[in-house]
Amino acid sequence: MSGRPKIRLFVDHALAPGERVGLSRDQAHYLTGVMRLGEGAEIAVFDGRSGEFRAVLAEASKRGGTLEVQEQTAPFRAPPDLWLLFAPIKKARTDFIVEKATELGAARICPVQTEFTNAERIRRDRLQAHAIEAAEQCGGTYVPEVDELVPLSEMLGNWPEGRRLLFADEGLSGAAAALSELPASDQWAILIGPEGGFSPAERERLASLPFVSAISLGPRILRADTAAVAALTLFQASHGDWA
Ligand code: SAM
Repeated sequence: MSGRPKIRLFVDHALAPGERVGLSRDQAHYLTGVMRLGEGAEIAVFDGRSGEFRAVLAEASKRGGTLEVQEQTAPFRAPPDLWLLFAPIKKARTDFIVEKATELGAARICPVQTEFTNAERIRRDRLQAHAIEAAEQCGGTYVPEVDELVPLSEMLGNWPEGRRLLFADEGLSGAAAALSELPASDQWAILIGPEGGFSPAERERLASLPFVSAISLGPRILRADTAAVAALTLFQASHGDWA
């Protein structure tokens, strides 16, 4: 048996040895047109819930094809139960946040509209495609769901019991990060604001909510995309799956 195939593809189809999986036109184009694979080539596939499997390209044309699923090559590994709430910024930087949140092990990505958010809509499908591509490239077996954009106030109003929210508060810049002093929980979320930061009313509301802890991300004001990466990294190292 050869080693694990290098090309990895997410398929929206429950996987098990012996399954046959149809390829979309885009997937067939990627495998045959971009990666130049022919029939009989081996790739790795994952479905976001069952782990990774070896698969053989059984039929391939420009318009579609079929994969034959073989043995499992890696177990399913879910990330910690950590949501990333962020206010969408410019397109390329929002794409970056989704890509990095997937690589860094966010379980769910929740774009939120704050008072100073410029974006009024997002292309959820495009952002989801970025999350899938990031999972394919980083060897993950899980793909975080990207939600539709919702107002932050609505999200806070419907907040699920038991989940703690870490509010990255630029007003604390300079304070110690202090992630070690958080209350115990196994359900978490991180909130990152837009380039304009949070409004006084939002800060007041966040400060009044019992499930919120404000955290500092060090002595400098970070751009929102840098702040998302820094907060996810700090969390994973202290409470998550790097700890
Ligand atoms: N316009 C705001 C200001 O000048 O204070 C800065 C907003 S910052 C570009 C975007 C977001 O990143 C903030 O809302 C916050 O969530 C996060 N952030 C950036 N630097 C931070 C820090 N040192 N500590 C905590 N959060 C930070």
